[in-house]
Amino acid sequence: MSCEYCHIGHYELAYSPYIHWYHGKIMVIPNAPAYSCDICGHMEYDASFLQKIDHLLNRFAEEAQSNTVSYRRPVVFEPNLMHTTRRSQ
Ligand SMILES: [Zn+2]
Repeated sequence: MSCEYCHIGHYELAYSPYIHWYHGKIMVIPNAPAYSCDICGHMEYDASFLQKIDHLLNRFAEEAQSNTVSYRRPVVFEPNLMHTTRRSQ
């Protein structure tokens, strides 16, 4: 596939950081699949990757609206005990 920008080069698979603002917070995916032009360097993120990100963000938004998101308390492992217990102080 030839480059949409320079119309000369061809895209090669590359990995690039994907940075996206989401409700005032920054989301960074260090090695997002992308395609980079071998002549001008124009970069396009992989379409299926963007669809997956979109799907995940929509799901988070739906869960946040329905208040079904639950946060588990961290489990404290006591090495000398047979069972895990919560620290009581
Ligand atoms: Zn190009």
